[in-house]
Parts: sequence; structure tokens; C-alpha cells
Amino acid sequence: MDSGGGASLPSTCPYARKRRVSYFYQPTIGDYYYGQGHPMKPHRIRMAHNLIVHYSLHRRMEISLPFPAASLDILRFHSPDYVDFLSSVSPQTLLDHTHSRHLKRFNVGEDCPVFDGLFSFCQASAGGSIGAAVKLNRKDADIAINWAGGLHHAKKSEASGFCYVNDIVLGILELLKVHRRVLYVDIDIHHGDGVEEAFYVTDRVMTVSFHKFGDFFPGTGHIKDVGVASGKYYAINVPLNDGINDDNFLSLFRPIMRKVMEVYQPDAVVLQCGADSLSGDRLGCFNLSVKGHADCLRFLRSFNVPLMVLGGGGYTIRNVARCWCYETAVAVDVEPDNKLPYNEYYEYFGADYTLHVEPSNMDNLNTERDLEKIRNMLLDQLSKLQHAPSTQFQTMPPTTEVPEEREEDMEVRPKPRIWNGEQDYESDEDEIDKPATDGSDTFKTEDTSDRQRCVFSSGMDRAMDICFR
Ligand SMILES: [Zn+2]
Repeated sequence: MDSGGGASLPSTCPYARKRRVSYFYQPTIGDYYYGQGHPMKPHRIRMAHNLIVHYSLHRRMEISLPFPAASLDILRFHSPDYVDFLSSVSPQTLLDHTHSRHLKRFNVGEDCPVFDGLFSFCQASAGGSIGAAVKLNRKDADIAINWAGGLHHAKKSEASGFCYVNDIVLGILELLKVHRRVLYVDIDIHHGDGVEEAFYVTDRVMTVSFHKFGDFFPGTGHIKDVGVASGKYYAINVPLNDGINDDNFLSLFRPIMRKVMEVYQPDAVVLQCGADSLSGDRLGCFNLSVKGHADCLRFLRSFNVPLMVLGGGGYTIRNVARCWCYETAVAVDVEPDNKLPYNEYYEYFGADYTLHVEPSNMDNLNTERDLEKIRNMLLDQLSKLQHAPSTQFQTMPPTTEVPEEREEDMEVRPKPRIWNGEQDYESDEDEIDKPATDGSDTFKTEDTSDRQRCVFSSGMDRAMDICFR
């Protein structure tokens, strides 16, 4: 079996372990509130930040305030009518005729409610990921982190699974201005459907998603979904079952990602670190420890390719904060003490007050035989790839016509929900309002003046229908 360890690509850094890390944080991000009982709590990002500061990890990175993404930036992927809607709707105007008739079309309401400051929240999340891409493009950082990003379910003209604006697609489009091939890796428990769909027909982005598959939101991500046209074999889906543990997960992650790095040779990597794959998540059903989850980052970091690290799902918020704090420590290469420092949200972390969470004794429905079959199928799929496709850079990416989904059916069919609407009163204790403290150092504003303006060439939900000029 694969025993982990480092990667073998040539290192350009004389100190193999040392990386320059850039971290994006908007101090008001924790104030956004999806509504009572809603599992998505931006407060978890502030909790993670608070731990990061109390472990003094902020001294080992450059901290930036994200420049809020403008509508024009968001329009690089999303449709004008959808962006218009998001930027003008509010809880007060929600039921006005101009807005109410769009709620269903844009899938706004239940999983994706309209809350105060919704568009500013999207601007901060997307601004962080675009800013992170700009840092990597300019070679001002080796790793760029945005825990407010990773909202992988958002579609061109539709909110989905608590996501409205797909900061990941926007960040990747920014990376593609400079990088020929970008690898996207997703370890959220849910399939990274919005990102996969955006780049399904191109070989300039390879997407790899590890997720629970079978009677689970969003329902996509079958192992045989491999991409189409020029994108054929550049989408990888790893379907998993309840209760997967660290050893199982890494026995797939390491060999698959090693092979991907070998055959695809990306110029940049984006890792979505959704923390709902952790043990004990309110909506998830995997059994990963914080260490096991972070080992995915550690492994990808070892290849020494420019790396963007994003958040995502995660609904047991004390564990989300633990996980993203520890992953920040992995990025800057320190091993923090398991005993938590005193911090503003200390009472969330009782009774043990430790950084790490142990997996539970839940049943593991993944058999060795299933895992081996998945590993072999995917390694076989990867062996069909030509080595590192040589994109003719600065030329128009292929705009292959792919049959569109039958939209009328999509309208009629009820949208799958990520959350059944039930409240978990134990988790709702997390909603107790805490004073907003971030204790961070001074912030710098990200300069995005060199961003280019791109245009859409078709109405398909594909980000690559954009011309790169
Ligand atoms: Zn998720």
C-alpha cells in the first residue's frame, strides 16, 4: 500500500519545506448570518481566525484584506441577470414583484436564503479567492489561503447548497491568465459539482473530487463521469461511502493525486478543504480526523507547485475552526500544541480544549475491495491521459458545442436539498452571539488593477467559453 511521504517533482525552492504563505481575511465575515437554525455559519471563519491568531500563526504569513469582487469580476462566470438579482435583493425587497418571480429560477429560498448583506458576503468570499490567484500569478506567494472561499456548488445562474457565487471558478479563471494547466482538488464531503461543470469540456483545468456518493446531495459525481470533448478524462470522481477513515481516505488520495501530478503536471493547484468530511459533522457522515484531513494538504504542498487553499462546507463549527487552524499551521510548516491557547471562543472547545478531534467508532461502509476497485479504475483512467496536454497558450480555448441539459425538465424537477431543514438544537448553541474580535495585525488592501476583462461567447454553463486575451 501507498505509504505517503513526499512527492518527487523537482523543487524550485532551495529550502524544500519553506513556503511563502499569503492569507486573506475579511474581519466582518463572521457577522453574516444565514438565519436561525441554518447550518451554514460564517462565524466559523472568525473562530478559525481567532485560533490562528492565538497560535501566532499570523506572524508567519502575509495577511491581506480581500478586495471585494466587483460585479464585473463575478460576471466572468455568472450570468448578468443572476448577478443583478444577487446585488439588488434583500430580505426587505424579497417579496417585491421584481425579485419574487426570480426566487425559484435562481434557486434562492430554502437552502440558499436571502440574508442581510448577502452580496457583500459573496464579494468578500470571491474577492479573497481572486486576490489569492493574483498573489500566486505574481509569484508573491507560494501558498494563498482563503477560508471564506470554497463555495463549490454555485452555478452560472443558480444558487445551490448554501453557495451563491462560485469563488473557486473565479479564482481558477484568474489563475488561467498566467498558468497553462490548473488542478482542482475537492475534499468536501459533497461533490464539487459547480467547479466540475464549469470546466467539464476543457483540459486546461483538471477537477478531482472525493465525496460521499449515493442518496446524498447534490447527487452528481459518479465515477464514470470523466468529462467530455477536450475535457474527456480531465474530470475525476472518487465516490465514497459513510464512515470512511483516515487510512482508507489516504489510501486513495495519495496514489491518485501522485498519478495526477505525474501525468497532468499542473502549473497551479487549488485545494477545496471543505470540513464537512470530518468526523462528527452535523451534515456529513465521514470519519476523518483533523490530521487525516490536513494530510491531504500536506501531501499536495509537498509537490511545491503554487497552491491556493480554500474553505467550503463544515457544519460542526468548533471542528471547522480546529481544522482550518491546523491546516494553516501545515501551510506555514509548524506543528501547533494540541492544547488550545485561551481564545475568545474558548468555551466552544470543551470539555477537552484540544486542537485535534479523534474519529468516532461509527461503522465504516467502505470495504477494502471497494476501495481497491475505485483506485484501480481511476489509475486506469489516468493512464489514458496524454502526458501534460500542451495548450496553445494565448489562443482561444475550445468552445465545443455540448448538448445542453433539458432546461424545461430542470425547472419542473424539485431541486435536491443539502439540508432537510431540521434544526439541531445542540449545534444552534453555536449561534450565541459572541463579540466580534479578530485580534489581527494590520491589513493591506489587495491591488487588482491588472485584472483583465473577459467576455462570454455562449450561454452554456461553462467557464471556459471565455476568451483569454
Ligand atoms: Zn459540503
